[in-house]
Amino acid sequence: MQILESYVQGGWRAGSGAAANLYNPTTEETIAAASSGGIDFSAALAFARARGGPALREMTFGQRGKMLKTLSAAVHAHRDELIELSIRNAGTTRGDAKFDIDGASGTLAAYAQYGEALGEKRILNDGESVQLGRGARFWGQHILVPRLGAAVHVNAFNFPAWNMLEKAACALLAGTPVIEKPGTPTAMVAWRIAQILIETGAMPAGAFQFIAGSAGDLLDHMGPQDCLAFTGSSATAARIRGNANLINHNIRVNIEADSLNATILAADVSADSDTFRLLIQNVALDMTQKTGQKCTATRRVLVPRARVDEVAAELVESLNMIKLGDPAGADTRMGPVASKSQFADVRAGIDRLAAGAKIACGGSKPARDKGYFIAPTLMIANDARSVVVHTEEVFGPVATIVPYDGGADEAAEIAGLGGGGLVASIYSNDPAWSERAILQLSPWHGRVWAASDKMAEQSIPPGLVLPSMIHGGPGRAGGGEELGGLRGLSFYLQRTAVQAFKGHLDSSFAK
Ligand code: NAP
Repeated sequence: MQILESYVQGGWRAGSGAAANLYNPTTEETIAAASSGGIDFSAALAFARARGGPALREMTFGQRGKMLKTLSAAVHAHRDELIELSIRNAGTTRGDAKFDIDGASGTLAAYAQYGEALGEKRILNDGESVQLGRGARFWGQHILVPRLGAAVHVNAFNFPAWNMLEKAACALLAGTPVIEKPGTPTAMVAWRIAQILIETGAMPAGAFQFIAGSAGDLLDHMGPQDCLAFTGSSATAARIRGNANLINHNIRVNIEADSLNATILAADVSADSDTFRLLIQNVALDMTQKTGQKCTATRRVLVPRARVDEVAAELVESLNMIKLGDPAGADTRMGPVASKSQFADVRAGIDRLAAGAKIACGGSKPARDKGYFIAPTLMIANDARSVVVHTEEVFGPVATIVPYDGGADEAAEIAGLGGGGLVASIYSNDPAWSERAILQLSPWHGRVWAASDKMAEQSIPPGLVLPSMIHGGPGRAGGGEELGGLRGLSFYLQRTAVQAFKGHLDSSFAK
């Protein structure tokens, strides 16, 4: 059995005491164990602040970009090995493993380019300078400078590669050292990537540390220049927000939590249109890609009442074509959920949803005798405003059709019952309906994705998070924001208003 070690203070260290086991979700076999017992988290933070931070801040954006390029190439060079590990530890199909691993190396590469484009700079200007005094000499300029602390990244189990490296890309480019703590059930993939990154020798000492196992008392040692970026469930997010040390020091916290993403079909879309085909394709993809364990996957499909049976029949037909089984199989399209506790949670969640809905396909019964397999499960809600449909995030291959009357305002109001989401996707060929829906949905969502016949052929699915677009959402989704090009760096930088003689501002900052 593989023991996963932590990389702290410049060396790999095994934890002591009780360890958490990691399993192969296809066979239920124990394959690894992780413990962070005995790791000195206070010393790890101090090492990041004293060694990693100064070394990174000494580098220009261009040099940090070059470093990210090396890291991206190293992950890509180990792609095949990482895919095998992901199949074994996370139960992902080959395609789903590539989605995570290529997403990780691709995001690093994108931020490498942003860095290289910034070149010799070490600080950024935020907007134009403005005249403050009566004459032309006294001006103000907002600047963005690296903070002096460490970035603690606590991540979810579902994207062990991408989640770790999308955060690390922004922090490292900003000049902030990282302490990564991945979700334990799939930590083998993250752990191997950490080894690969460190073996490159591209990062200065203290720029990247890795915790295998529990976060222990890490958050209790953080200070006012540190920041915490968290991805995971709302329940854990609420516990973290309540941490006394984070509150007492006003430590920056970014939360990416769960989300009941909505897909909305407008009444104008005919069954023979490209837009309709795209909806069926994207909903089926969201439900089954990564076995539905995707924070951006659709959970609620709003369909005009008169079209519910038609949409359900099309989706069931698509879902029935998905081959469920051993994720290592070449033609397997969906594997198990990632862990035993996920399996129990998904089964219980389906039962709670089914109490107010009709099951169109699937159900909570295990789909195989061994392993954590659940069939794609589509439900039709009895009542569009039933509380459970809008509050129960079943983090698996599960979605519910919600009947509605077809108006843009009504659709947005129902979607808003989810309390804030990462992405809402709408399908309409009526520009007036789409505009109305986009404006009404935006306050509740970090991203609104609008399909029509005009873009259907060229679109990228709504579940895909791109480095150039922000990721995050209000309310239940955590209220956080990541990525979005250079916007993703601002969490790690201090915005300071400098008020001074214009000549001085121009010579120092207007470059
Ligand atoms: P989770 O149980 O909330 O765990 C998330 C992370 O928090 C893990 O690394 C976990 O460590 C750690 N953790 C747990 N308790 C903690 C504590 N008291 N202090 C510090 N860290 C703590 O979530 P999950 O099951 O891994 O992930 C699934 C959830 O993540 C879903 O709800 C999904 O919607 C959400 N998600 C959201 C996004 C997004 O971008 N918005 C992306 C992916 C997933 P251990 O694993 O060691 O317990």
